[in-house]
Amino acid sequence: MWKVSVDKDKCTGDGECADVCPVDVYQLIEGRAEPVNEDECLGCESCVEVCDFDAITVEEV
Ligand code: SF4
Repeated sequence: MWKVSVDKDKCTGDGECADVCPVDVYQLIEGRAEPVNEDECLGCESCVEVCDFDAITVEEV
């Protein structure tokens, strides 16, 4: 299991994480990325790497 967190103060809602995630964990809601499908996360950290604002953390739980 993976815990996906988005820092709302850092997220600009550019949608890069949503575009790169292979299992559609993210939805853009009110201009911010929300991990609505966290149970599907593979822990690949592609979203972490693609975020220019260091807004995302993915931790194994
Ligand atoms: S770690 Fe990979 S599977 Fe998980 S939310 Fe990020 S891009 Fe999607």
